[in-house]
This record gives sequence, structure tokens and C-alpha cells, in this order.
Amino acid sequence: MPPQEPLRLMHVHAHPDDESSKGAASTAMYVAEGVDVHVVTCTGGERGSVLNPNMDRPGILENIHEVRRAEMEAAREILGVTQDWLGFIDSGWPEGDPKPPLPDGCFALQDVAVAAEPLVRLIRSFRPQVVTTYDERGGYPHPDHIQCHNVSVEAFHAAADPERYPDAGEPWQASKLYFHHTFNRPRAIAINEAMVEIGLESPYAERLATWQPDPAWDDRITTRVPCGDYFEVRDRALLAHATQIDPDGFWFAVPLEVQKRVWPHEDFELVWSDVETELPETDLFAGLREGSGG
Ligand SMILES: [Zn+2]
Repeated sequence: MPPQEPLRLMHVHAHPDDESSKGAASTAMYVAEGVDVHVVTCTGGERGSVLNPNMDRPGILENIHEVRRAEMEAAREILGVTQDWLGFIDSGWPEGDPKPPLPDGCFALQDVAVAAEPLVRLIRSFRPQVVTTYDERGGYPHPDHIQCHNVSVEAFHAAADPERYPDAGEPWQASKLYFHHTFNRPRAIAINEAMVEIGLESPYAERLATWQPDPAWDDRITTRVPCGDYFEVRDRALLAHATQIDPDGFWFAVPLEVQKRVWPHEDFELVWSDVETELPETDLFAGLREGSGG
């Protein structure tokens, strides 16, 4: 039997820190298992605000581009991944009513076919079997997250097509495409209930008050990766993004013990596959491992 081709996983994210807040425990688990994980970050996060009061000090916001690069470097060490920047400029979160127009030249305003080219190149050179990105709503409606979805889906399919982007390397058909569903309503409900039960303030109470049930959306989850043992690694990677993550804020309001007991997995939606796999799955590489017939 020929030796198993090394497993490779590519995550495409909008900003530095997204790789540590979405699917990061799965990342750490796969890295521990020997999978080669590559993160692609579409923008430099230049328009992110300083969201951690401890970092709101002189020298930070003025140098946010360099600061966020250094934070990303620390996070990728912690997660054990390699990473590339696509080099686009953060579109920022449009605030106001009506919302202001997006800034000239930002990622969200790029033509999808043009913005996909550098990603096609990376897919063809890294040759991942599995690619992840956001759902069509962006996971949350930041213009860069929606654009990340558009660009990733375009590049995933175009990378396999020899007629598309002929100067961007040898065609590569990745076998599976997933969307992240990390912050789903059933998870928020389960964690909220557990927090109330032990008498702690739930960071989800406010969100849940207006979060309309959408069972059809929740049913889109096909894959739950059991990665609770790696929640600590995820948290350390998140904390490396010091300008974005307040250690006393939302991200750390739920004790790890509660998370591990109530929801010890990260959730994904398999949207495209050319290998046989049985749903629901517990592994992004289901159907691709030696002896699985894939
Ligand atoms: Zn983001």
C-alpha cells in the first residue's frame, strides 16, 4: 500500500485573530496529530480598534499594522501553524445610520475574481485536502467576512480548473470544503443554561434575547470535531491578539470546565466533498484517511 499522503488543512480567515476564535481548538488538535495546518489571512486587520483596555495606550493604535503582525506571529507559534497574508486592506466595521461607504481600496470592494487569484496560488502550492471558510453570511456580517466567504469559495473551485488562473500554478482539487459554525444558537443556549445553573452571569443572555430560532440554519451543521482538550491552546492563541481580546471580557467569561462539559467540540458544515463520507461526521478528514476508502 502506498504511504499515506500527509494530511493538509487550510483555513481562510478575514483578519488576524479570526484563526484563534473560530476552529482554533480543532486546529491545535490536528497539529498535535501531525496534520500540516496553514492559515491564510486576507487582510492585515489595519482598521481594527483596540478592544482591550489594557492595550489602549500610546504607540499601539499608531502602529496597529505592525502590532497586529507581531500578535499574529505569536498566535501562529502557539497554534503550531504556518500562515500567509493575502495582503488586502481591512474594510473596517461600518458604524452609523446610514452606514458610511466602505473605504476606497479595501478588501470588501475588491473584485472577487481578482482577489481570488493569490488564494488560488496558495491552494495550488499548499495542496490542502480540506479547506475551511465562513458561511455566506460571513458568520457575522462584517464586510470582510462576507468577502472572505466569496473569495474562498471562488478560489476553492477555480484552483481545480486548469482553464482558470493558468499562471497561478498547477491545478489542485481540494477534497472537502467546510464552513465554520462555531457560534451557533444551540451552543449559546446550552452554555447559557449551564451558566445560570451554577449561578454565573452568562455572556450569552443578551444575545439570546433577540436571537430568533432558525432550526434550518442549525441543521446545516454536519461535523462536530471533539477538540475540548485543546480549548486551553485556543485561549492562549486568542490572548496573543492582545489588542483585540480583553482577558476580562466576553471570550473568557465561561469557565473552561463548563465549555468542556457542555459543548466539547467545534462545529462545521461540509458544503462540498469529492470523497465518500457518512454524515454526521466527527473529523474534517473523514473519508480521507488511510483505510477509510477515500
Ligand atoms: Zn474578523
